[in-house]
Amino acid sequence: MNTWQILGISWAGDVPSLLTRVDQNRTSELVPLLGRKLSYRVRQRRVCLGHITYGESGPAYVDCHNDPGPAPRCERCAAVENVLAASMHQAHKLGRAYVDRRHTAHLDNPHRLYLAAFPDGSLKVGTSVGSSGGVRLIEQGAWLARYVAVASDGYVVRELEDSVTTELSVVQAVSTRRKLHGLAHRVDDAVLQSALTTTTEQVHRLIASSADGIDPVDVAWNNPCVDDDRWNGAAAYPLRLDRGNHVFSVAAVCGRVGLIERASSTDRLLVDLGQMRGLEVEFGDVEPDAVEVQASLF
Ligand SMILES: [Zn+2]
Repeated sequence: MNTWQILGISWAGDVPSLLTRVDQNRTSELVPLLGRKLSYRVRQRRVCLGHITYGESGPAYVDCHNDPGPAPRCERCAAVENVLAASMHQAHKLGRAYVDRRHTAHLDNPHRLYLAAFPDGSLKVGTSVGSSGGVRLIEQGAWLARYVAVASDGYVVRELEDSVTTELSVVQAVSTRRKLHGLAHRVDDAVLQSALTTTTEQVHRLIASSADGIDPVDVAWNNPCVDDDRWNGAAAYPLRLDRGNHVFSVAAVCGRVGLIERASSTDRLLVDLGQMRGLEVEFGDVEPDAVEVQASLF
């Protein structure tokens, strides 16, 4: 048996990996998820998730070997992550002079505002830095999306994001529970597109009456999973991944939801891979816990 410490899910383009420390290695590595067989027994020990630091070359992950206690992160990593979250999400309220200087270079770049639709019909508004790529969308598991505005910096875009929430009642977060439930009970893609079109028009009207530094755009994006028929008819895996024994192969990943297959069955099931974050597991040949998929979930 190998000991794996699972630290999170990481995306490179549209390719997902597990960020893990394998055996006694001091630094983490990326283990590609697609097609990977995961066969493990959960050990009780929890490990610190580490933190992200901002250097001259942009964000970088920092491994941590402190004991996190009952929390996901140790006190040091939690403090660093809290400063980052305040800089990124409250920048426009704090004002430029009060943002941690390590983060100002990031915030001075052009940002885009997007609307993202999820398979349960939820819509959210969000922001991403730069003018290309869909990493923010893919790591959140958005199904269909539109980039609706380009802003001169990260402060202006967050003011617009807040007014979209206040004026149009579009939320800024969708829970993993809703995302997973939505993948098992999908709203038609045409319904999602129609909601995106209507809300894009509303955002553009809002921009017309708002401050300088924002240009409306309408650029469509879709998750590669939209064209993958294997997601059709998938049901929720009834067990939690953070306890017991599990054996499955990962067929596809949407955000942190994995589409899995098991050797003993033709069912495709949906799991929250995020439940593995912070776990120490023994990886190897195990007898999986029994799975009873309820017909009502189909
Ligand atoms: Zn730590």
